[in-house]
Amino acid sequence: MKPKGLFYYINAGKRSIKWHQQNIQQIKKCRFDTIAVHGIYSLQEALDFNQGSIIEPLYLSTSQAYRDSDEMEAALSYQIPTWCYSRIANPTVYYLEGVLALLESYGTNVDASCCATSSGMAAIQSAVEPFLVENKKKPNQPINFVATCQVYGGTYQLFSVRKDVERNIEWRKVVNSNNIREWESQIDENTRFLFGEMPSNPSQAFFDLEKVAALAHKHNIPLIIDSTVATPALLRPLAHGADIVVQSVTKSMTSSGFCIAGAVIARKNLTTNINNNQLKADFCAYLKQLPNRDTGPNLSPMSALLALSDLRTLRPRMDQLSRNTMKVATFLESHKQVEKVEYLGLKSHPLNRLASKYMHLVDAEHDDLYGKKVNRYGHLMSFCVKGTHQDTRKVFDALQRIWRATDLGRIKSVATIPTISTHAQQGEEGRKLACIPPNLIRLCVGAEHPDDVINDLNQALAVLKGKKHHITSPEFSAGGASSARMRK
Ligand SMILES: *Cc1c(COP(=O)(O)O)cnc(C)c1O
Repeated sequence: MKPKGLFYYINAGKRSIKWHQQNIQQIKKCRFDTIAVHGIYSLQEALDFNQGSIIEPLYLSTSQAYRDSDEMEAALSYQIPTWCYSRIANPTVYYLEGVLALLESYGTNVDASCCATSSGMAAIQSAVEPFLVENKKKPNQPINFVATCQVYGGTYQLFSVRKDVERNIEWRKVVNSNNIREWESQIDENTRFLFGEMPSNPSQAFFDLEKVAALAHKHNIPLIIDSTVATPALLRPLAHGADIVVQSVTKSMTSSGFCIAGAVIARKNLTTNINNNQLKADFCAYLKQLPNRDTGPNLSPMSALLALSDLRTLRPRMDQLSRNTMKVATFLESHKQVEKVEYLGLKSHPLNRLASKYMHLVDAEHDDLYGKKVNRYGHLMSFCVKGTHQDTRKVFDALQRIWRATDLGRIKSVATIPTISTHAQQGEEGRKLACIPPNLIRLCVGAEHPDDVINDLNQALAVLKGKKHHITSPEFSAGGASSARMRK
């Protein structure tokens, strides 16, 4: 057989890219729910390549075979779209990346791309690491980054231990992230990026995104936002000037709790003071083709498919979960045994006005249920029990419907005590900075009827009034192996 030649494949690749881009332009015109439901998987693609399957195909294969050496050369030099080897790219993961890029840039002219990762932590590591290099024009200068203290426990450890202690890359902490002057005072010419989590887990920190983005750009550096708690259904940081968004897809994006997954979503042509044109032009394509190819934090295609399935209902789900949380937070706020409640949706919260400027249920104004803009604040909240750490544990241990687990974003209500779980590693000093007292319970309200969640909290809090309280012993549950082991 006569070889087709390199250019045959390159030209075919160009046609394929054009077809995919046109398809993306079509779906981009649709509303949020349509994008969440269909993503970038089209009828034509289903009919032409996938036996008409209405759901995205699951490609578990590790690698792709090529017709001849020319096609292989074109593919492995990244001259044609390819998925060569599943650590670098995979068709099922590609569908997830496509929909996440569209959801995060929804309603804007921002051209965004996405790189899916094996976890939210892998997304944060992937997003920050490429910037933590010397500027070749100014060698031998110690570098730093500026980030809020109110961050997820894993992020706190990544920044304080893995970067600051182990590699001498200074983490300049912003304690009050709502104070723009504090951000500014920390920046110098060796600062590589600004990073913030909003709303933060669990302390509900929030800041003026547009002001912080403008500040970053004034200093020629990118703003990276962990937007896990909000999800694109409630907040899209790219629309307000952020350059890179990181998501723990594990959480509210996929409420089922079937997979650990993460994503980096970035605008193209981002702002940075390091000299790397490829990174600047398309950060996520750069991540996929270079650093992540070499470090391997890729997502499994099975997890990508599970995530795709959950994402289809993101908007109505975040609406329902937010409304339930508002009811529960309002109940707790008026409870005698509760010292305080942290939830941005409460009018009494000092950041309620600022959060209300940014956090809206997407497309509520196009929805006949509402027909106008409505604020929604997500389903993560926390409250402080009136009493000691031991009292807090008593209340926590008395919960019967709400699961005790270090998790959030679930369709089922889940609670944890951050001091002894998610934020244990960072020590008391670190917890003080992150505003996590020992009597704090983090609660992520699920889709149960809120009355049942409230009843559970009410009976658990009653423990503090000295009322005797009985929980069903696990020995008598149907719990098989684990309870049998406990009896021994
Ligand atoms: C859970 C979480 C992460 C880490 O995500 P994983 O998927 O667990 O690695 C990062 N940021 C926030 C805000 C989180 O809640």
